[in-house]
Formats: sequence, C-alpha cells, structure tokens
Amino acid sequence: MSSIFTKIANREIPAYIVAEDENYLAFLDINPLAKAHTLVIPKKEVSYIFDLDDESLAGLWIFAKKIAKAIDKYMQGEAIRTGVAVVGLEVPHAHIHLVPIKNITDIDFAKPKLKFSSEELQSIAEGIKKFVEL
Ligand code: AMP
Repeated sequence: MSSIFTKIANREIPAYIVAEDENYLAFLDINPLAKAHTLVIPKKEVSYIFDLDDESLAGLWIFAKKIAKAIDKYMQGEAIRTGVAVVGLEVPHAHIHLVPIKNITDIDFAKPKLKFSSEELQSIAEGIKKFVEL
C-alpha cells in the first residue's frame, strides 16, 4: 500500500503544496510546530532516508535548501532561520522537516502542535511558493 506521502504526491489526498519538481515535493506539515513548517519528500517511496541512493539523497537535500531559502524569505522577521530535522517515526516515507525557528524550543517535537485554519495554511503555502526558485 502506498504511503500517505505518495498519496499526496499522486494527488490522491489533499495537501498544502509549496513546490514540486520531477523527483521531489514540498508541502506544509498538517500538524506544524511553527508557522510554515514544511516537509520535503522524494517522490520515490523509501521508508528510511538513509536507504535512499546517493543521488536521490543529495537531490533531496538540494531541493530542501531551495525550499528553506523560500521559507526564510517568507518568514523574514518572524524567524531567525530554518531549522532542519529528520525523524520519520510516524510516516514511513523519507522526509525532511523544515521548521522556521527563533529558539531551540521552536523545534521541540514533544511540544503541542499549532493549529491553523485551512485558509491560513493555504495562504502560507502560497506565500512560500512565491519565493521558491527551483
Ligand atoms: P515523522 O514521521 O515522525 O517525521 O512525522 C511525520 C510528520 O508528518 C508529522 O509532523 C505529521 O504532522 C506530518 N503529517 C502526517 N500526515 C500528514 C499529511 N497528510 N499532510 C501533511 N503532513 C502530515
């Protein structure tokens, strides 16, 4: 059975998509730690990020860099930089978390998640998208 992230990539379930190319996809985390918390995935479904072949892994990080730069521009003034985490305990499809942060506690996954309306999430995704340069 396909992972939930493959279903997002295939547009079988909705997501707030930020950017996409042939091999990678970025979309908002539905239970964010911070405004503009974004996930970056390879479209190729591999559970553990370090099981990706070298080319796919390198490409994923380069794609993540482009999205992080867009988040930085979108969040200007609201965050100091974009923090990065790889966890993968919940969804068995490799992904990188990009989390705008001001403090170390902003990227504490044990904290309660934030709630945004679907309109807000749509607006955040559109806002980041404007700064993405692939
Ligand atoms: P982890 O696998 O531990 O890195 O966590 C998976 C992340 O995916 C969590 O932060 C979830 O909030 C997020 N997530 C799960 N399902 C969805 C979804 N349908 N759309 C967006 N984000 C999701």
